[in-house]
Amino acid sequence: MELEKCSECGSEYYKASSKMMSLCPECASILYGYEKCEHVFKDGRCIKCYWDGSKSRYTESL
Ligand SMILES: [Zn+2]
Ligand SMILES: [Zn+2]
Repeated sequence: MELEKCSECGSEYYKASSKMMSLCPECASILYGYEKCEHVFKDGRCIKCYWDGSKSRYTESL
C-alpha cells in the first residue's frame, strides 16, 4: 500500500486510509472531525492506517 507522511505529526500512514491529503487519520479526526481510525497496534504501528502513535505538540495539547 502507498505510504504518505503526515504533515502534522510526522508519522507515515497508508494514503488510502485517510480522507485528507497529507494528514494521517488521527490528525484528520482531531483537527477536522473526520472519522476516527479504530487503531489496532501491532509492533508499534496501527495495522489499519500505519500511524505510529506520534502526536504533534499541537494535537497533543487539544
Ligand atoms: Zn498525523
Ligand atoms: Zn489506525
